[in-house]
Amino acid sequence: EYPMFTSIDPATGAPGQSYAELTGAEIEIKLQRAHDTFREWRLTDLATRTALLERIAEQFDANTQRLAETATREMGKTLKSAIAEVQKCAQAFRHYAQEGAAMLEPRSFPGATATWHPMGPVLAVMPWNFPYWQVVRFMAPTILAGNVGLLKHASSVQGCGAALEEMVIAAGGPAGLFQNLAIKSDKVDALIADDRIVAVTLTGSEGAGMKVAEAAGRALKKVVLELGGSDPFIVMPSADLDAAAKAAVTARVQNTGQSCICAKRMIVHADVYDAFFEKFSAGMQAVVAGDPMDAASDMGPLSSEEQRATVLGQLKLFEQAGAKLLFGGEALPGKGAYMSAGILVDVPTDHEVANEELFGPIAMLFKAADIDEAIGIANAVPFGLGSSVWTQDADERARFERDIEAGMIAVNKMLASAPEAPFGGVKRSGHGRELGPYGLHEFMNLKTVLG
Ligand code: NDP
Repeated sequence: EYPMFTSIDPATGAPGQSYAELTGAEIEIKLQRAHDTFREWRLTDLATRTALLERIAEQFDANTQRLAETATREMGKTLKSAIAEVQKCAQAFRHYAQEGAAMLEPRSFPGATATWHPMGPVLAVMPWNFPYWQVVRFMAPTILAGNVGLLKHASSVQGCGAALEEMVIAAGGPAGLFQNLAIKSDKVDALIADDRIVAVTLTGSEGAGMKVAEAAGRALKKVVLELGGSDPFIVMPSADLDAAAKAAVTARVQNTGQSCICAKRMIVHADVYDAFFEKFSAGMQAVVAGDPMDAASDMGPLSSEEQRATVLGQLKLFEQAGAKLLFGGEALPGKGAYMSAGILVDVPTDHEVANEELFGPIAMLFKAADIDEAIGIANAVPFGLGSSVWTQDADERARFERDIEAGMIAVNKMLASAPEAPFGGVKRSGHGRELGPYGLHEFMNLKTVLG
């Protein structure tokens, strides 16, 4: 066994760098520093904050390769996707630097003005799947708002957590503005209860979300939750099938299937099912799982041996429930947590296994007789994060926009997050929004001024 917080490279099984867990006294120092820094940071003007955001973006640009390699070694994503992730983070800092001030304009009402003010130190509990981007979605608006941030990152990506704090310091940010807390999840409840923390945001599993929301509820603190998803990807007869099949493969296997907005359930109209299937299954069979540092790999390993074991275990449950694995979904021999991309059919929608989030490169494929059945299948899960629909028909598009139970819908394209577009879900996918003006406003005090 390795000491606390030693990242294991999922491509090789080799131990990487170790990070010491903070002691209680160290946590206290950082918490007090966050509190003290907030008292200063809340008084800074917008120009100071936006200038810092620009400089943080420059730090991400200057350190792209190193940051990307850290992420690849800690959680196995391909280096090219890690580079793209770091670049997207720089974009998000620039977005809030350039557009943020307009989002904070006061609004006038008869006899009143509503003005935006910071709230205080916010705790972020974040996952390993996009170890920079998930954090930056919180971090960039936090800094602009005049809040300060504390990060409890996933245990497996402590190097990424440390690097995020380092970027802020290198950009000239105050030491208490954004601090990485190398702690385990058993320390989170006490932090949420502490008076110096005003709110909490979590991206991760339903289980972690429930625990954190419970603690936030006890302390009567606001919480934003970005939890799992089992996004539908609906293909109607008028769709461009080549484009749809190609996007479906990418949407399922991106990040080795470990994204909350991966398209996990392909729902295809009966009239085009066979034609779509031929293209989609050829695409899935061609996916290359291999060394994430190699540009020829479409996907790296799963993020850990445990994560692969979880997915393989879920596949067994699917098969026991009557689903058929047409191909793939197998652990690859040799070192590393690799597995092949695959397709599941005959998944019983009324069985509880169909409610599982499959966090690996396996697509569930369904045939729908008409749009009603397609929407019914899409909404049959407890999640409601994203969706993607493929149709050239304006009425069908309107039906999907109205009736799909999701926080986001992409039409004739793959769903992806973007700094300017609100991101979040309904049902058990969580509540609240990140990104865009809504993400900025979540942790601000909208103060009404009368007179
Ligand atoms: P978790 O939800 O457990 O981890 C996310 C974050 O929450 C981590 O920082 C974790 O810390 C923390 N955490 C976990 N339990 C608690 C708790 N009781 N109190 C406070 N913080 C907590 O994800 P896993 O890594 O365990 O992945 C399991 C499954 O979750 C995946 O298979 C996938 O289905 C889903 N998931 C979804 C994500 C998404 O983007 N929607 C992202 C990641 C996972 P620590 O690492 O120290 O446990």
